[in-house]
Parts: sequence; structure tokens; C-alpha cells
Amino acid sequence: MRPSVFFVSSVAIVVFVCFVATLQARQFSLVSVQQEIEIGQEANAQVRRKIPELRDAQVTAYVRGIGERLVRQAQGPKYPYSFSVADYREINAFALPGGPVWLHRGAIHAATNESQVAGVLAHEVAHIAQRHAADQLTKGIMANLGLGLLGAVLGNGAGASTAQAAAGLLANGVFMKFSRDDEREADRVGLQLLRRAGWDGRGMVELFEILQREASRNPGSVELFFSSHPSPQDRMARLRESVGRGGTRDTAQFQSIKSRLQRMAPPKAMPRQ
Ligand SMILES: [Zn+2]
Repeated sequence: MRPSVFFVSSVAIVVFVCFVATLQARQFSLVSVQQEIEIGQEANAQVRRKIPELRDAQVTAYVRGIGERLVRQAQGPKYPYSFSVADYREINAFALPGGPVWLHRGAIHAATNESQVAGVLAHEVAHIAQRHAADQLTKGIMANLGLGLLGAVLGNGAGASTAQAAAGLLANGVFMKFSRDDEREADRVGLQLLRRAGWDGRGMVELFEILQREASRNPGSVELFFSSHPSPQDRMARLRESVGRGGTRDTAQFQSIKSRLQRMAPPKAMPRQ
């Protein structure tokens, strides 16, 4: 007995509605962990060609050390995390899919203790661990790029060029803006990582206070941060309740890295896009 056309199309509609509902509930991603890592590595190679990287062994080892301590507390897939410093004076940090984290040198200059820098990195590690990039890529594919790319992502031989196309968009800042929910989650999960790794949770809130002060004194230095993140005021109010007390606030090493940076040529201004 052949099922009727009506039956088949009803099933198709139900399947499609479930598919869209699942995507919206963020329980499903079109991008696998492996694809996410590949896209992130490719984007990182492109970013590295564009951005002046600070290649000072002591500074990078210090930032990597903080990052790796946070990563040990992170849940989720075992991503190949990496930590690099961009020689830019603007206060910012960003995460690429599946592992790469970049910290602007300006964030270290602006911080007054180690827990603040650890707080910024914790937020970025949380974006990666919670797979926010995979969510954004999935939404981007669904919303903008049509079924051709969807097919390629689902895997029919065009995977490598898709990874490159997606990486190119990422390296140029497309999809880098996470949703407000993702930002909130990165703050919440980042704060947990920060505290579990042994730092004082107040560092995260203090960095927002620094950002706010900078915003009134020198708007250009934080413009980039505000264009990709919700206002610090909202975030501070939510975080203050759960920062707790105790843990490391500062180290002699942080202060020596800071003075080392101050003795170097000043960081560059980020070119306007
Ligand atoms: Zn963020």
C-alpha cells in the first residue's frame, strides 16, 4: 500500500518543524566539533596574517599559563585551545571556533591585577567550551547562506572549501558577534571557571568597571569591545551577586609582565574596518 501524498507531505512538514525547533532550542548544531576545530584553525591562520602578534616569549608564556589553568576547569569537548596576544592598544579579546583565543595587549595595560586578565580570558574560554561559534555558524548558515552551503556542511565532498569560506567570514569579523544569551552564558560560565581555577571572581566585575571608566575618558579604546558585547552595566549587575570572595587577586608575575610591556614600544592602534 502506498502512503498518500498527503501523509508524506505531512511527515515532511512535521520533520521540518522539528528540525527548526531543535535548532532554535540550540540542542543541535550543523557544525561538528571536528569541523568547528578546522574552521577555527583556518580562521586563526587568516587572523594571524592580518593582526600584529606580540611575540615576546615571557608575555605569551604568561598569558598561555593563565589560559591553560582556566581550560583545565572547562567542560565540553577537548578543544586544542591556544592563547595569543595581539599587539593592539584597544581593550578587547576574542575567541575563534574550537580553541584559538586572542587577547589584545591593551587589556593587560588596562588591568590592575591578574584576576582581571584571567576574567577576560575565562569569558573567551567559556564561549569556546559552550560551542557558541557552532551556534552562530549554524544560525548563519540557516539564515544567510542558503541550502547550498548547508549541503556542503552536512558533508558531500565540498567540506574543505566550506571550512575555508566560513573561516574567511570569521577572520573578517562576520559571525563574531555572539547573541546576548551567549554573552550572558559566557559571563556566567566564565566566572565559574575563574573561581574554580583559583582566582578572585571580583576580577571579572572590576574589568567591566575599568571599561566603563575608559568609555568616558577615551571612547575609541573600548569602542570595539562595546560593538561586540552588551553594556558592562547590565553584566556587572548580574555578576556581582555571584562573584563570591577569596582566591588570587594579584601576583608579582602580573606586575612584572605589566612593567615589561611598558618598557616595550607602545601597542599599535587597530585599523578601522
Ligand atoms: Zn563575549
